[in-house]
Amino acid sequence: MNIILIAPPAAGKGTQSELICKKYNTKHISTGDLLREVTKKDDAFSKEIRQLMEKGLLISDDIIFKLIKDTIKDSKNNIFDGFPRNIEQAIKFDEILKEINQKIDYVIYLRIDKDILQKRIMGRFVCPTCNKVYNFDDIDNEHYCECGEKLIKRKDDTIEVFENRYQVYIENTKPIIDYYKKQNNFYELDATLSKEDVFKQIEEIINDNN
Ligand code: AMP
Repeated sequence: MNIILIAPPAAGKGTQSELICKKYNTKHISTGDLLREVTKKDDAFSKEIRQLMEKGLLISDDIIFKLIKDTIKDSKNNIFDGFPRNIEQAIKFDEILKEINQKIDYVIYLRIDKDILQKRIMGRFVCPTCNKVYNFDDIDNEHYCECGEKLIKRKDDTIEVFENRYQVYIENTKPIIDYYKKQNNFYELDATLSKEDVFKQIEEIINDNN
């Protein structure tokens, strides 16, 4: 089973992906997480990627496909979080899946307004070790992951970078909704609800179709 989650930044893709993985035993493929792993190295290539990400800009399709191809080659049960991010990626991904006899089973779009996202961005903390995402109202104190690691703020989780990322989303990512809407596996959900209620909607989609 392959699921794609489409949503603006901070809409809860990471959180929902985790819940889906737990229940359906899928592999969580987040191109953002894969890229953040690359940026931990100290060479010119990593630095270039880091700089683009810190500005909220998209990384080239060639790099993204190299990462994606490596991760899907031995897995047929995946949730794609943050990929595809533009029409070119969506079209090429369809071709790649066809070549390996796989298909996309569900495209789930998490709909949410920009003003709610701005608030979520400020409260978002992540674990640098296991990538688990948390949201807190109290943003001035230290917070810890369930694995014991101290949580950090992502460098691109600032209001200024959020504005860029949102703009990039509207220009590049939102058009893929029309691309997938033409297929019969597209579902639009209200992502303003609690994470449990959003997940309930996802479970209904998957269970109704199995
Ligand atoms: P995310 O963790 O999904 O919010 O992604 C963080 C950043 O990684 C984005 O702002 C982009 O700079 C980069 N990125 C993640 N996924 C992609 C993708 N599929 N294509 C291009 N850039 C990406």
